[in-house]
Amino acid sequence: MTKIAFVGLGNMGGPMAGNLVKAGHEVRGFDLSEASIRLAAEGGVTPASSLAEAVSDAECVITMLPKGQHVVAVWTDLTTLVAEDTLLIDCSTVDVESARQAHKLASVMNCISLDAPVSGGTTGASAGTLTFMVGGSDKAFALGQPILAAMGRKIVHCGGNGAGQAAKICNNLILGISMIGVCEAFGLAEKLGLSHQAMFDVASTSSGQCWSLTTYCPVPGPVPTSPANNDYRPGFAAALMLKDLQLSQEAARQTGAATPLGQHATDLYAEFERAGHAGEDFSSIIHMLREKAGR
Ligand code: NAD
Repeated sequence: MTKIAFVGLGNMGGPMAGNLVKAGHEVRGFDLSEASIRLAAEGGVTPASSLAEAVSDAECVITMLPKGQHVVAVWTDLTTLVAEDTLLIDCSTVDVESARQAHKLASVMNCISLDAPVSGGTTGASAGTLTFMVGGSDKAFALGQPILAAMGRKIVHCGGNGAGQAAKICNNLILGISMIGVCEAFGLAEKLGLSHQAMFDVASTSSGQCWSLTTYCPVPGPVPTSPANNDYRPGFAAALMLKDLQLSQEAARQTGAATPLGQHATDLYAEFERAGHAGEDFSSIIHMLREKAGR
């Protein structure tokens, strides 16, 4: 049993903290939203009314926050709040630079740190089947692995500080592009008079097979659990997809990598967000593509 402070109890963090409780850890949770704290408390998380209260006595602090700026701000606050040798793990998806900054803050505190972003969405967070992509030293990974194992099925040590975020950004570059590809294929299939089910049955067992098709299928019907069957409620919000694509483009510019389809996907999700769909599941972009066909 480890004393864990969990900061950021949103769509992902809430159920992740609940799985740590189920695994027998003592978890104190803090979030700026009281509603999120209440929900996490239903899953057995002990509510804290401040960051300081959440982390006092903690042997491990986990953050699951929206963006790099939030992570750096919280980890800066931690510098005066946690004891030396505390294990700090950030599971948010952030830019590699912010991740490295967070690691630096941890080393100033003589703490051990990991960047450990996840894949698997809210379903994976609830089921405890997330994939963790982890960056940090061998020592930090050995300490963090058993804790992450309570929230995920696959835990990959990708390399040193920031390597987890690098892997996450590359993975989500594929995700953004593949969702648009799947939506385009369904749009074309509709024009050609092919049923959604026929299109799915073929592509899901052929070379077009991918996660965007088989798990988050953008049309209702073929995959009953996909957000398309739930009014396109997230799931994975279009705003988060855009954030990750923008991170990929920022990284591509910094490193000189060529990602022309990534840039195009970023532009399409930015247009989708401007049209007021930031809060919808990212598969809902199929509607915007259909509208383009109607022009
Ligand atoms: P969310 O908005 O539901 O949760 C974030 C939580 O952080 C909110 O409850 C917010 O109140 C809280 N918060 C913000 N600043 C805070 C602070 N200073 N102190 C305490 N709490 C604070 O977002 P989410 O969907 O849970 O995503 C969290 C992270 O996980 C993001 O980086 C996202 O990109 C990543 N992610 C999300 C998914 C997904 O499917 N939703 C999948 C993989 C990764």
